[in-house]
Amino acid sequence: MINIPKGTKDVLPGESHKWQYAEGKLRKVAALYNAREIRTPTFEHTELFVRSIGDETDVVSKEMYTFEDKGGRSITLRPEGTAPVARSYVENALDSLSLPLKTYYLISAFRYERPQAGRLREFHQFGVEIYGATSPYLDLDCISFAYDALRALGLDNVRLKLNSIGCSDCRKKYVEALRTYFADHLEDMCGTCKERYGRNALRLLDCKNPECKKIAEGAPVILDYLCDDCKAHHEKLCGLLDASGIPYEVDAGIVRGLDYYTRTVFEFVTDELGAQGTVLGGGRYDDLVQSIGGKPTGCVGFAMGMERALMLMEKHGVDFGRTGIDVFVISQSPELEGACMAIVSDLRKEGISADTEMTGRSMKAQFKYADKQNAAYAVVIGGNELETQRVKIKRLSDGKEEECGMNEIAARIKEN
Ligand code: ATP
Ligand code: MG
Repeated sequence: MINIPKGTKDVLPGESHKWQYAEGKLRKVAALYNAREIRTPTFEHTELFVRSIGDETDVVSKEMYTFEDKGGRSITLRPEGTAPVARSYVENALDSLSLPLKTYYLISAFRYERPQAGRLREFHQFGVEIYGATSPYLDLDCISFAYDALRALGLDNVRLKLNSIGCSDCRKKYVEALRTYFADHLEDMCGTCKERYGRNALRLLDCKNPECKKIAEGAPVILDYLCDDCKAHHEKLCGLLDASGIPYEVDAGIVRGLDYYTRTVFEFVTDELGAQGTVLGGGRYDDLVQSIGGKPTGCVGFAMGMERALMLMEKHGVDFGRTGIDVFVISQSPELEGACMAIVSDLRKEGISADTEMTGRSMKAQFKYADKQNAAYAVVIGGNELETQRVKIKRLSDGKEEECGMNEIAARIKEN
């Protein structure tokens, strides 16, 4: 037997309706927010991720699925959706559409991580990217989108944590302060942090090593280093959130693990998923489009981890809706299976989901099967029914029967 690769999962027929339920809800919220779907390839040139996410991040330095294709190009399975969408935005000159432009996607993403509950090597994201303005109203719209998306899934007690990591100007001063602070602690930190210290000291804040984490807790706080413009942006956003009634908490510890963020960063977190408590993360990335060859463009976005969202939904007993068929046509004897298939075919044409016996089983076995298929009704077809063209429709939930003409089955089921 060949097994599934480590860190990946099958979505089996018995659970795919949960994914469809969640995806359907998210698409509806996207429509409410005037966002259109964008679909980009599963793989990109490696360079795109190195340049945008940053080569000192965990994602780029440790987690990417990178390979050389037969043409000798370096290709990477997308570890996230923001950079590919930005690539597409620039390449297709989407700024020529009227701005702001709001896009969303439902994708799988790939990261070589240690698999555990809520952490996979192929995982799924619902992502949103909004292009075209630096106004804090865009940040508010994006956060409110994320908030409504979570609520649409029945997840109303996921907490919003907000921070600002400033622009490249404030970051310069801040990184100097970080260097001064970490210089005294560097010998107690992990090898990766020692390496990153000189190249990208900000990344020392999101090291997951417990020892490094403890040291990072005492580090200077970026909010104290914001320039006037970034400070005003952050304060304006806080005011807008206060007025909107979306509860949040400013948390200077939120820096996000990708280099492209500027100013606003946020996460929606829960205590119910152990170490994998971040259900959704996002922020503003005003320098990204320019860094990959476009014009300076204010952008803000987020990505929700679908596996984590679904785990929480299960925990909260969300009702994913009924799956099954409208009617199962029971064949009284194997010779009648052809006639039953013709009846089923007519029902399907009328928009009734239907199935019938094809393997010659007993009626008892067929009723059992109908039950397993979650059929709402059963109709038994024997010689008598075919002759009189009258049938009995049996409601399987309570056994109630009603009689009608053979060609009225669809109409009767639709009435109920
Ligand atoms: P974490 O800190 O948990 O590693 P992250 O900061 O790397 O998360 P992002 O890059 O912000 O995650 O991705 C957005 C969301 O995608 C996360 O909040 C999470 O819900 C989900 N996610 C990220 N990596 C994985 C993974 N390996 N498996 C499952 N979900 C993931
Ligand atoms: Mg991660």
